[in-house]
Amino acid sequence: MRLDGKVAIITGGASGIGRATVHKFVREGAKVLVADIDLARAEQVVAEVEDAGFAGAAAAVAVDVSVFADVEAMVARAVEIFGAVHVIFNNAGIAGGAPLLEHDPAVDYEPMIRVDQHGVYYGILAAGRQMAKQGAGGVIISTSSVYGEQAAELSFTYSAAKAAVISFTRSAAYELAEHGIRAVAITPGRVATPIINQFSQELRDTFASEQLRGRLTEPEEIADVVAFLASDESRVINGTVVSVEDGYSVF
Ligand code: NAD
Repeated sequence: MRLDGKVAIITGGASGIGRATVHKFVREGAKVLVADIDLARAEQVVAEVEDAGFAGAAAAVAVDVSVFADVEAMVARAVEIFGAVHVIFNNAGIAGGAPLLEHDPAVDYEPMIRVDQHGVYYGILAAGRQMAKQGAGGVIISTSSVYGEQAAELSFTYSAAKAAVISFTRSAAYELAEHGIRAVAITPGRVATPIINQFSQELRDTFASEQLRGRLTEPEEIADVVAFLASDESRVINGTVVSVEDGYSVF
């Protein structure tokens, strides 16, 4: 098993990409802290993997990733339950947006920056400190987006936050290399999760046509890549962006 004995924290683990990654990691032998603002759904995901009888283990914790004290408590909880932190997947995020000139900064800028940008920074900082203290290396994987590398409709704030995730990843890899800690960002394109499912069928069809297989990516397909990135098999991948976008950028 690829992640046997590893302890991982997955934020946004109650839904979509995070939930699929919890399943994959526990199947691969990891002990996973399912961290989400929605504790009831995080507990449901823990029950799912327990029912499936996978090799690893899981526990749930409530966290608001936009609050540093919460993120520190999340890391402490992982250590308390599982004894260490080897991997963090900074994946919790919110999407949406209005045309720039219609922005109310309190609605269209600040909340998203707090969750999608500050949340990733806090995860890198709190888990990075714990990994450095343990002295045995670690892996920090963070979810950016194809929008982190391009402008897109109704995406002014989201793109800025997702670009910051890429920048944080490069700088974290640089600063934490001396501790044997790697940092990698992933850029999904269009993934069939509640974030996308809120849109009309027509728009979802357009999204599907923007990828080379002509369909939305399944969250499990992203989880497969994240498991590889969390494993030692990807040890030469560091400080970079791994595209998981099914050719979205070739158009
Ligand atoms: P999702 O809505 O299914 O999952 C997001 C999870 O994050 C939810 O469980 C939610 O409760 C949690 N969350 C939201 N705010 C939080 C907070 N403040 N603290 C803790 N948890 C919080 O969506 P998803 O599509 O699985 O998104 C996961 C990540 O992937 C996000 O960062 C998103 O921006 C990114 N992404 C998604 C797509 C896509 O097409 N679905 C594309 C590119 C990037």
